[in-house]
Amino acid sequence: MSQSGHTGCPSKHPKLVRHTQPDTTQPSNHVNRHRMFSLQPSSQLALRTSYIPATLPEKEDENAVDTDAGPTVPTEDDPWNKMVPFNPSSEVDNVLGAPEMPMAEKRCRRTAGDTPISSWLPEHQMYMNKFLRLEGRGQDSDTPCACGVEDAMFRCQDCFSLKLACRSCTIGLHHNSPLHRIKEWRGRFFHPVSLKSMGLRIQLGHPPGITCRRPTPAFGDNFVIINVHGVHPTGLDFCGCEQEVSHFKQLLHACLFPSTVTDPRMVATFAVLEFFHILSFKSKVSAYEFYHSLAWWTDNTGITPIHDRYSVFLRIVHEWRNIKALKHSGRGHHPAGIGSTQDGDLAILCPACPHPGKNLPTNWETSPPTRWKYALFLAIDANFRLKHWMVLTDRKGPGLSQGWGHFVEENEYKQYLSNNGETLQEKSNCVSHNAVNMADTKSSRGLAATGVGTVDCTCHNMKLANGIGDLQKGEKSTRIGMTIDTR
Ligand SMILES: [Zn+2]
Ligand SMILES: [Zn+2]
Ligand SMILES: [Zn+2]
Ligand SMILES: [Zn+2]
Repeated sequence: MSQSGHTGCPSKHPKLVRHTQPDTTQPSNHVNRHRMFSLQPSSQLALRTSYIPATLPEKEDENAVDTDAGPTVPTEDDPWNKMVPFNPSSEVDNVLGAPEMPMAEKRCRRTAGDTPISSWLPEHQMYMNKFLRLEGRGQDSDTPCACGVEDAMFRCQDCFSLKLACRSCTIGLHHNSPLHRIKEWRGRFFHPVSLKSMGLRIQLGHPPGITCRRPTPAFGDNFVIINVHGVHPTGLDFCGCEQEVSHFKQLLHACLFPSTVTDPRMVATFAVLEFFHILSFKSKVSAYEFYHSLAWWTDNTGITPIHDRYSVFLRIVHEWRNIKALKHSGRGHHPAGIGSTQDGDLAILCPACPHPGKNLPTNWETSPPTRWKYALFLAIDANFRLKHWMVLTDRKGPGLSQGWGHFVEENEYKQYLSNNGETLQEKSNCVSHNAVNMADTKSSRGLAATGVGTVDCTCHNMKLANGIGDLQKGEKSTRIGMTIDTR
């Protein structure tokens, strides 16, 4: 044994796999190393290594020894046989046979990147100078515009170039970027101005920079575009020539989502809707916070009145998400159109739960010994504090999904409730679950729903298609039962 004199815990990089007699005149014994992993009560993973005699093939060793002979070192005395905490990283090194690094090379070498703030502090003043330089005209203080006609007085905050240009050159540079933010130099400071006030107009239905022969200004010439860079008052002309199509279609062709289909005066760009959609999932920002952040980004002084289009923005987001859900579910290419969408078609199903025809073998129903593997476990949950105010009636604000997604179809749901409205609520004996016993005692005045009941898959906590329904009063199991019955 090459490490026979070694005592205590073994190295983290064991290399020994064979025990041999120190006497070289005797044929060597070969052993197999068995490694056993076990979970300790302390939640640590432990590794036990033991050695079992093995016989070499005769053709490899003509002087094969008696295979009944045990290993030279008794298993109980072998330091390899001790339970040690298992370290996966060291195990990988062992398997790969990585050579052990000398201690001197293992030592981490310090670089300037380890103390970035200390490296930055000597340049503190320089950073401030560069910030202040951007508040002035910089190298363009005395140079005219490149066109040589007018003075360079305008700078774009969103173009990469900081070079100043004259009014007409700035407009010419922004036919393709009409939502950039411009600042005008007014002797001692820059002042924000809009491209609309400078004379730029967006012409729909024609390439950028081309004017229609019969341009039709937006209703009231008071058009507002919500973009990632803020809320922009914009001069916008619809196409009124022979290529004329309806105004909302012209807006959609330009990736602008209109607020209404008749005389729209406000749009949100597809980019800002996509941005808000991602942001609402990743940072839980509300539409209210998002819209007002954009408004303050447009003017952070609060001097200019903000276009209050929050409620319109909410409606646009509502419609945009419905269109995206239909598109992602493949309904846009369906020959019968989106009207043929069936209940639950837009819901995202749990990929791990059993779905016959998708992730189950064809004979799963007729294989009794293994049928238990395909069981679906469901759980019922409810949140009876999630109130929904009665803001709009169904006539003014009808639902868009109509049971296509995770919520149940409303008409069928209400019919079910009216048929089972007299069912008595079963009392709960659970001391810490008063919700069931408090059913029908909560005020529902002015509320469209007093809570939400859901049916989830127990193992993965995903909502089922048509597995969510409103609670009109308390946590009544009748209503939750409907979500199961309709599946
Ligand atoms: Zn110019
Ligand atoms: Zn620009
Ligand atoms: Zn035209
Ligand atoms: Zn599941």
